[in-house]
Amino acid sequence: MADPTVNHLFDLVRTHLPADPGGKTFIETHDGKRFSYADLLARSGAYAGALAGLGVRPGDRVAVQVEKSAEVIFLYLGAVRAGAVFLPLNTAYTGPEIAYFLGDAEPALFVCDPARAAELSEVAGRAGVPEIRTLDAGGSGSMAEAADGASTDFADIPRGPDDLAAILYTSGTTGRSKGAMLSHDNLASNALTLAQYWHFGPDDVLIHALPVFHTHGLFVATNIVLATGGTMLFLPRLDAGKILELMPRATAMMGVPTFYTRLLKEPGLTREATAHMRLFVSGSAPLLAETHREWSERTGHAILERYGMTETNMNTSNPYEGARRAGTVGFPLPGVALRVVDPETGAPLGPEEVGMIEVKGPNVFKGYWRMPEKTAAELKVDGFFITGDLGKIDRDGYVHIVGRGKDLIITGGYNVYPKEIETEIDALPGVVESAVIGLPHADFGEGVTAVVVPGANAPDEASIIAALEGRLAKYKCPKRVLFAPDLPRNTMGKVQKNLLREAHAELYRC
Ligand code: AMP
Repeated sequence: MADPTVNHLFDLVRTHLPADPGGKTFIETHDGKRFSYADLLARSGAYAGALAGLGVRPGDRVAVQVEKSAEVIFLYLGAVRAGAVFLPLNTAYTGPEIAYFLGDAEPALFVCDPARAAELSEVAGRAGVPEIRTLDAGGSGSMAEAADGASTDFADIPRGPDDLAAILYTSGTTGRSKGAMLSHDNLASNALTLAQYWHFGPDDVLIHALPVFHTHGLFVATNIVLATGGTMLFLPRLDAGKILELMPRATAMMGVPTFYTRLLKEPGLTREATAHMRLFVSGSAPLLAETHREWSERTGHAILERYGMTETNMNTSNPYEGARRAGTVGFPLPGVALRVVDPETGAPLGPEEVGMIEVKGPNVFKGYWRMPEKTAAELKVDGFFITGDLGKIDRDGYVHIVGRGKDLIITGGYNVYPKEIETEIDALPGVVESAVIGLPHADFGEGVTAVVVPGANAPDEASIIAALEGRLAKYKCPKRVLFAPDLPRNTMGKVQKNLLREAHAELYRC
């Protein structure tokens, strides 16, 4: 099922345009605005023309830090049509953070929210960015005005499959954020593969409440819909009540695990409420097996969990047809090779053996922007990318993620995979969830430590440790259990273990 190489991401849109582009909705926004595929063609053409008019040349970066809107999707497509490199930035980034990205990427244009224009114009000016324009959540601003004044006819700048379509900075929880260079073919091939694998078609209506500065909302969700001529219902952010209201008109939803835990708190989440839906996808962070089970019980739908990352797009997925196994991320996608290797020697490991996950395929990025050493360290000469995720392939071929390599705990010389301990703790009555981390310890190097979110009738520290003692080898048992009302998570639902490690760094030193 290998797809032919795609030269230009926008060809993907053209080849899948609905027969009546003016009559088919591409995006409907939360405030009832509708944008058809004819609007998409015209507006992306106008943005491409406006970008060229502002001096953006093929290969130039267009950095964008704006709120979610249909217009920013048209700006993204306009940049792609103009042969430029789209560079979306998390809306949470502060002025000093933006200064780093602009200095590193050297964009020809920076588009920001009008509310921050004064502050960020100065930042952009200092970074030497020649042009700055604005775009707000309602789709207005000087960038939109530039598009209003441009012709909607634009002859797409030809691109090759390896030319860059986007740079996405990694979240950079350890060290500096790195710009992942993604080509036209990286993005287009992954969208086509996922659309086929998940049975997307023109009749699909996708609930889209993810941010559009991240691979999940921008590439997985939006590109799949573009590759199939379907419709998206845009919400500015996660709002469980609104999502429930949309379900009777929708067929699919993509979310991070927090979407599912929040929706499960809604009494209105029932089989009837989800009867029109055919697919729920989860990714970007581990979905608790418990959430998967509860969701099945309440709705009759098995959440489909997949695994990917900024650098590689999507790598694995649970099957569309066949068993979607809770706690696993399914099988390598068609065209993607995945292996588990010994992190020290690089030797391939067998089934059930935990090691470093490496992937290779048309989905894997072209390297880190202006970081040749980092690229060489993580992209092997045989084309495999070292993901930094530890995991295993079970005897049935399902891939399991046990955690990030940097979260591995080494205690008294033994390796401890946090996921194994978290699974045991989460299964205890009265525990909502947990995060297991290693903290500096004079005797052991690192001390296994659990941070537990208690529910009703939660056990205390001593009873949690006692309950684990019979189930886990002694060296894996937490030396201490701390309690917290919730776990720190980023916008994509990932538990920020680095923050927990920082907050409790002194625990065994006192
Ligand atoms: P990002 O580049 O922000 O998309 O983060 C990618 C990382 O998120 C991966 O390297 C994994 O550590 C994690 N991740 C993504 N999907 C999953 C999943 N389904 N289960 C566990 N971890 C995941």
